Amino acid sequence: MFRNLDGGKEMKSKKELRNELMNYPFIKPDPKLQRNLMQFGLDVGDGWLGIIKEAWDKINELENLPENFEIFQVKEKFGELTIYPEEYNEDINDILLKARQKSIHTCEICGSEFAQKENINGWFKTICEKCKGEKK
Ligand SMILES: [Zn+2]
Repeated sequence: MFRNLDGGKEMKSKKELRNELMNYPFIKPDPKLQRNLMQFGLDVGDGWLGIIKEAWDKINELENLPENFEIFQVKEKFGELTIYPEEYNEDINDILLKARQKSIHTCEICGSEFAQKENINGWFKTICEKCKGEKK
């Protein structure tokens, strides 16, 4: 029953997941870019959305989450998933550190867990062999 439904469906679900991840209570995009930079969305490839989902769910379950907690920015930096919270505590640090560690071997494009950080013309990108081949 797999047929060719997959392509379009897969893409749509990534888009849906992206929207879903922007709807957690601690994501409050500020159009004026004063409180945070979430107006730019999740500035990473689709391959990392699963890692972010995992992190968001864990943060959501924290009992010691600071009141009015917000995520400040989500981006790719030196080939790593970088999430800046507005406020830290030990549990938040731990969750975000694990997400970053996972991103270092997860392809930012397809989500394969057999990726590694590559230096592509001076830009670091965490990418798997397959996606690297397709980029050439
Ligand atoms: Zn890949």
